[in-house]
Amino acid sequence: MNNNPSENNLHLNVMTPVNLSPMPSDDGREPLLLITGGSRGIGAATARLAAQAGWHVALTYVSDAASAGAVVDDVRALGRRARAWPLDVADEAQVLAVCAEIDDWAGAEGLQWRGLVNNAGVVDRAQRCDEMSGERLRRMVGINLLGAMYVAREAVRRLSTRHGGAGGSIVNLSSVAARLGAAGQYVDYAATKAGLDIWTQGLAREVAAEGVRVNSVRPGIIDTEIHASGGQPDRAWQLAPQIPMQRPGTAEEIAQTLVWLLSPQASYTTAAIVEVTGGR
Ligand code: NAP
Repeated sequence: MNNNPSENNLHLNVMTPVNLSPMPSDDGREPLLLITGGSRGIGAATARLAAQAGWHVALTYVSDAASAGAVVDDVRALGRRARAWPLDVADEAQVLAVCAEIDDWAGAEGLQWRGLVNNAGVVDRAQRCDEMSGERLRRMVGINLLGAMYVAREAVRRLSTRHGGAGGSIVNLSSVAARLGAAGQYVDYAATKAGLDIWTQGLAREVAAEGVRVNSVRPGIIDTEIHASGGQPDRAWQLAPQIPMQRPGTAEEIAQTLVWLLSPQASYTTAAIVEVTGGR
């Protein structure tokens, strides 16, 4: 331990540029990132930032092909390859089929799958548990938990060195609701995200020696269209006074953390749950 303050300050003043580029492959293939739900919000912001860092991008959407196409155009404008697929992650057969198509595309383009942002997710109307239908609960678990598990499994089958992959990074989109519980809003949503967090931690330990890192990011209140889809378009700013930083976050602020976790800069970070909440 160096107790000399002037030397410590000197150390802190050294500017080390942060390089968020993905890990290069040994065989010259370039890194491919899959982002589910990449047509808007956090997924779209991540596609754009990841492309700036050097990733080629496969993204999926469920209904909004036009928005997905606009994100593809933006990624291509940055000099990376990109393509979008329609995919309902709750449908296991669709997940298998789309991942096989991504394999074919990646092979033809000289790309190698090295990253996954498991981002697709939904909320629902604010309701108490005793008002929730079985259909709502099955949809919530099907998309947010089972869907994320299907896609993560397919990623492990391709990234893990056990399966001949070159390793990589998986980031699951959780939520601070996994800690807070979202009482009176959507406790079902909170439960799926809490389940996803323990999936992250168990899976991370399962594949840690196979070159694959797995982490969760828990955003707080982020200003995206997800709140309108839950019937509360102004929710992000209405809740601002409850956030220590007095404002919702932006999709770009979450993307920064996601792209860091994908990069070799996070090479010793696995099984982590990273909160990005403005202090909430
Ligand atoms: P968003 O703006 O509503 O975007 C959701 C994305 O997921 C869209 O691309 C949508 O596709 C896609 N999607 C919806 N249902 C799907 C399904 N069944 N299968 C595949 N894709 C589907 O959401 P966001 O705010 O960016 O949130 C992204 C992730 O962060 C979610 O997992 C969410 O739970 C989490 N999160 C968000 C917040 C927040 O405050 N925004 C906070 C904590 C956690 P289409 O465009 O085609 O509909």
